[in-house]
Amino acid sequence: MAQINYDAWPGDHRCAVSLTYDDGNDSQLQVAAPAMEELGFRGTFYLSCGRDDWRERLEPYVLLHQRGHEVGNHTVGHTCSRNFQDGPATGGLEDMTLEDIEADVLEAERRLGELFPRQSRSFAYPCYMTYVGAGETRQSYVPIIARHFIAGRGYGEYGFSNSPHNCDLACLWSTPIEHMRGEQIVGLMDLNLRRGRWLILTMHHIGGARLGTARTEFEKMLDWLDRHSGEVWVAPVAEIAEYLRDEVQQAAGQREA
Ligand SMILES: [Zn+2]
Repeated sequence: MAQINYDAWPGDHRCAVSLTYDDGNDSQLQVAAPAMEELGFRGTFYLSCGRDDWRERLEPYVLLHQRGHEVGNHTVGHTCSRNFQDGPATGGLEDMTLEDIEADVLEAERRLGELFPRQSRSFAYPCYMTYVGAGETRQSYVPIIARHFIAGRGYGEYGFSNSPHNCDLACLWSTPIEHMRGEQIVGLMDLNLRRGRWLILTMHHIGGARLGTARTEFEKMLDWLDRHSGEVWVAPVAEIAEYLRDEVQQAAGQREA
């Protein structure tokens, strides 16, 4: 199976890894981005832009974007399940319609477009949640994301990554690596290499925080990627998704047709 997947990747690469960072914070700008750039890696930063000062908060990412990192769409409202909250009348995805969520992501796209001129941009589902409504009216908003974006990052089964041939680009699997030991992260990357797949890792803070990945463990991950850079393609989500759409999945569709 690995052989089939190895052949899917360009050049000497045998698999792919995307490093993704959510919600924006100083550790991404001051620790993650410089450490990646030192090794020639570029990542994807998913930013939501709902606060009044969104322009000031996102401004520091302009330089990152200019240096080749991807700035991805993470909605305006960052709305997740209302089940996070207590008490009555708390809004959440359960209270939204497909029209609501589409208007939100398009407004986020408009705002991001002001600071980060439109390249191909991917989307990350806030809290990995891909639905609106509840009970009998609950439905997936993956088709909306498929219509407007090259790719959407969701949540995957632990230990699995994305098949270059079979993954749904609009609902890619990712693995959060908060509070994970470097050895465990390296294990996931090694498994992904052996299977020839595309592993998407999700981080928030680098360092101590509720959703933190310790700096020592982050550096072990980068060290492994550096030592395997000949066979592991490290690139932003949109870049790999575009390659798979054009060179792997569409090509397979044309052969079948
Ligand atoms: Zn988020």
